[in-house]
Amino acid sequence: MTKQSVVVPEPPMIAPAAVPSGAVQLFPPPRSGGGGGASVGKKKYMGHLEVGSGGGRVNAWLDSMRASSPTHARAAVALAPSPDAADEVDAWTRKHPSALEMFDEIVRAWKGKQIVMFMDYDGTLSPIVDEPDKAYMSEAMRAAVKGVASYFPTAIVSGRCRDKVYNFVQLAELYYAGSHGMDIKGPTNAWKQHKAINKTKAKAKSVLFQPASEFLPMIDEVYKALIEKTKAIEGSKVENNKFCVSVHFRRVEEKKWSALAEQVRSVMKDFPKLRLTQGRKVLEVRPTIKWDKGKALEFLLESLGFANCNDILPVYIGDDRTDEDAFKVLRERGQGLGILVSEYPKETNASYSLREPKEARTVMQFLQRLVEWKSNSNSLNARARVFPSSPHAKDDR
Ligand SMILES: [Mg+2]
Repeated sequence: MTKQSVVVPEPPMIAPAAVPSGAVQLFPPPRSGGGGGASVGKKKYMGHLEVGSGGGRVNAWLDSMRASSPTHARAAVALAPSPDAADEVDAWTRKHPSALEMFDEIVRAWKGKQIVMFMDYDGTLSPIVDEPDKAYMSEAMRAAVKGVASYFPTAIVSGRCRDKVYNFVQLAELYYAGSHGMDIKGPTNAWKQHKAINKTKAKAKSVLFQPASEFLPMIDEVYKALIEKTKAIEGSKVENNKFCVSVHFRRVEEKKWSALAEQVRSVMKDFPKLRLTQGRKVLEVRPTIKWDKGKALEFLLESLGFANCNDILPVYIGDDRTDEDAFKVLRERGQGLGILVSEYPKETNASYSLREPKEARTVMQFLQRLVEWKSNSNSLNARARVFPSSPHAKDDR
């Protein structure tokens, strides 16, 4: 595999509110006010960037870009040991415990429920790298995802173009929701693979949903304009994700971020039906429709025939601001498990966390344990059918 340089992780954002250690929060209640209810507030981070005239807007963008995308030097400062850092991390970890460390407690609470898996790609299944086209996942990770998909309906939900994320993952048995969920396609005859999928209720043989089709010509137009306007800014990269456009600044010197923001703003003002959001080292142009990863999660559950089921457990694993829409949906449904992949504490609606995103090892370990647990429980159930007096007679699906 091509050697990749891994982009510096986000710095700590602290959520000091604590819950009793060891508590299993499978179905957390909705939070008022959104944003995870944490008193973080150390960063001027804006999910949605307003397009207006004047330098004020660009300065606000810059603050937000700096907050979400620290340079190596500033991240190093942020990560330097401080007297309060350990306590802050400890408090955040009590609030969002490690899904790996709590695995046994979690699966005990899962018993009897049908798991449906949702996973982001960049930063979750693959490391965040300088060159977006080289964000490869490891063979071991691919095997872990394949194992999970053999037991549970599984979807990849990404900001990338669906074809591109499929080319990275290369597993035909998955559902793929590209362009932040605006381009959804599933495998054919999925119910043959997973008995739990209700063939009658399932909406289509191969789910295909594109709620922003009318925006395709406009997306092409803004893509070309952004290429032209940003070509002089060294290191910038504009990526056409079919239903949205990404302007990556992973390789742009920080002193040029202002110029980049100004160029993007000058393009955006001509496209009032598009909006600008941001992720890790990326500005993203999207249609103004109310559709996001959370809506995609709900759409897929409905398409699979699980819309009003109480005995399902959607699990969503993601690392980015855009994944918060999905975490929030799970929290509002009071159903499912949100797992944030982050090396450092930050504001989130997820219930659990997984650390070490650079190599995505903890995500892989979590998936491997899930497969191992399912395989073992299937064996126990098979034995229980042969020996009905066994205490393991109940199928936990
Ligand atoms: Mg991501």
